[in-house]
Amino acid sequence: MIPFVNLAGQRDAYRHELEKIEKEVLDSGSFIGGPQVKNLEKELSDYVNCPAITCGSGTDALTLALMALGLRPGDQVIVPDFTFIAPAECVSILGGIPKFADIDPETLLISSASVESLVNENTVGIIAVDLFGQCASFEKLREIAQKHGLWLVEDAAQAFGATRNATGTVQKACTFGDISITSFYPTKPLGCYGDGGALFTRDRQLEEKIRMFANHGSAGHYDHRLIGINSRLDALQAAILRAKLSHLDEELKIRQRNAAKYDQFFLDCWNKRQNADLQVKPQTLASSNTSVYAQYTLLAENRDAFIEKLQQAEIPFCIHYPETLRNQPCFADILPLQATKNRNAETATKKAISLPVCAFTDVDLITERLGNL
Ligand SMILES: *Cc1c(COP(=O)(O)O)cnc(C)c1O
Repeated sequence: MIPFVNLAGQRDAYRHELEKIEKEVLDSGSFIGGPQVKNLEKELSDYVNCPAITCGSGTDALTLALMALGLRPGDQVIVPDFTFIAPAECVSILGGIPKFADIDPETLLISSASVESLVNENTVGIIAVDLFGQCASFEKLREIAQKHGLWLVEDAAQAFGATRNATGTVQKACTFGDISITSFYPTKPLGCYGDGGALFTRDRQLEEKIRMFANHGSAGHYDHRLIGINSRLDALQAAILRAKLSHLDEELKIRQRNAAKYDQFFLDCWNKRQNADLQVKPQTLASSNTSVYAQYTLLAENRDAFIEKLQQAEIPFCIHYPETLRNQPCFADILPLQATKNRNAETATKKAISLPVCAFTDVDLITERLGNL
């Protein structure tokens, strides 16, 4: 059976290196923070060209970002309606109100027109998600944020390593927000062997606050200046991430090659008009973006028929996401505060489907099986 994300294949490929470093950390007796974490932060900063602060998870990173930006109960934050729940959940847990914006029907990224339509006197910020591995339209979002005095957070949990060149300079994901965040959940493009996350900001005061909030609000030993949380990265996870980071660019090239193979295969299916159930359309890559393909996501007019084909060919798939956030039961109490339904987000929940794409996936085998149906 083909795995959806081939973490075992990745571990086999780097086994020698990983086992060595894992043993070193376990023998060191230093498990939280320490030199591995410090060095990882330096390497992450160098990689994206923006100072990095590690923490316990991507969700914690979002929470810490909102704490540092001073989110207060009742504040409204605009988030995409079609994404993982974390951005909306973090706003809610701090007493804020998420307002759900629609997406572009082709790139599936947050629509700046929809964002602007939701701004009111209670709006304090925007969280934009780099969905499935490509950056959101940050130039337009920044314009809106500036015009209305809002902060902008980039959720790059799915896009570490992606680039955007909309202004004549190539910029990496994790550098577009006042604070940007990423996740090292095991199946993300850069993943560890447990939970992990990071924040990125060029603002020294925000950085200082984030570091305090992540470590019980403390400025030094038992000197608690703020009400904080415990969200620190383990040395073991940091060491694993350092090893995997050194292979990330090769992996991203293979992911992009895999995506290109799928693109070609499904384009051929369209052109030949042979197998109607395989006539599906990939998420559009915006012209200024490269994607790290956290997911290779397609839109299928008749998703059930497409799923049947995948099952016949024994190809695993995932549905990201089967429901809009607006319709999730946990947000029932704020539903009256929402604008009308987001049409493009609703449509995406019915059409979107993701195929295996990681650097250790044999996409030739998958397209061959589909082609033979
Ligand atoms: C995975 C993910 C998160 C949360 O990251 P965790 O490390 O799992 O907490 C946040 N936002 C998005 C868009 C994600 O895909």
